[in-house]
Amino acid sequence: MPMAATRTYRIVTLPGDGIGPDVIREAMRVLQAVAEPAGIAIDTAEYLIGGAAIDGAGNPFPDATRAAVLAADAVMLGAVGGPAWDHHTGPMRPESGLLQLRKALGAYANLRPVAVPEALVASSPLRPEVVRGTDMLIVRELTGGIYFGEPRGRDLRDGHRSARNTMVYDEVEIKRIAVIAFDWARRRRHKVTLVDKANVLEVSQLWREVVPEVHKASYPDVALDTLYVDNAAMQIVLRPAQFDVILTANLFGDILSDLAATLPGSLGMLPSASLGSGIGLFEPVHGSAPDIAGQDKANPLAAILSAAMLLDALGETPAAEAVRAAVDDALAEGLRTGDIWSEGFTRTGTTDMGSRVATLARKHLEQIPIG
Ligand code: NAD
Repeated sequence: MPMAATRTYRIVTLPGDGIGPDVIREAMRVLQAVAEPAGIAIDTAEYLIGGAAIDGAGNPFPDATRAAVLAADAVMLGAVGGPAWDHHTGPMRPESGLLQLRKALGAYANLRPVAVPEALVASSPLRPEVVRGTDMLIVRELTGGIYFGEPRGRDLRDGHRSARNTMVYDEVEIKRIAVIAFDWARRRRHKVTLVDKANVLEVSQLWREVVPEVHKASYPDVALDTLYVDNAAMQIVLRPAQFDVILTANLFGDILSDLAATLPGSLGMLPSASLGSGIGLFEPVHGSAPDIAGQDKANPLAAILSAAMLLDALGETPAAEAVRAAVDDALAEGLRTGDIWSEGFTRTGTTDMGSRVATLARKHLEQIPIG
């Protein structure tokens, strides 16, 4: 018997360019498939961003898009950019639309889960016995630190070229990102690793004061440990499965998240979320892949796993878990898009992969009693 929807969410989709529309279509197919058995309703509205918005509205982040995302419960983004817009400069570049979107949403926390499902262990560049069991979440501060600190710039000092940037954080910025890391750890394996450079940097020493204060005050059920960033980089390669949640500043998170992104063997497997003001932005880590756009070749799993994070963020945990389980099942059945295909597996297109995950996710959820 169909469940009556008790909660309705407004999701704005911004497919963007290249394979963005291909993968967002599948992510929304999966969301709609789990909605009814989860007892939720999903209202969607599609808006322009990036190159498509330059062509359609003369601006990579049109006012209509801004107004729509600010009235949404969550935003699903595909990807922006491509050769057709490479001659554009400054605020007229497609990427400017993405930066304006993140700014409008006040997204100060970037979350990147990196998991290597058992079925993909052999696709990783690391040895199976090293990568098996990897399931980490990197929580990166996104709007502070050395990328934004003042003073910054270049000049001549004693006739020599000189340049400077400033790494700066205050305790408010550190506390709010720590809260996000601890909250997500509670949905996972209850462990946070703070990664910093506290042996050298005063800024990191402040993180080592503030994060334990947040921990002690509100999260005694979560374990907290610390690692220097150089050691963390080594550990991600040597023993990636030891990590649950990694909490770190903007610069360190930028580097570590790309390092960790190599573990599953394809960009097409990596979801992300950017959180802050309350309206979350969910997007695959990959770009617009113009080489395979519109050819039913893109791996939709990164976008589908981003939709699972969207469900997590809305508190719809059973639906989120059903989607993740369905992705594991589809891989275990042997389905593979071209980027993760190897001999002996079933090569499948974007649409068939999305449809299969949608069917499996629905099946998972129908077995869970909903209170
Ligand atoms: P890319 O991530 O688009 O592609 C890199 C390689 O990975 C390509 O060979 C591509 O075919 C493959 N690939 C990526 N996603 C895939 C998927 N889901 N399934 C199968 N294969 C996949 O990076 P790029 O080639 O450096 O950039 C292409 C365009 O995307 C550029 O215009 C760039 O500026 C833009 N870009 C956008 C974002 C974003 O919107 N967040 C991020 C990165 C790059």
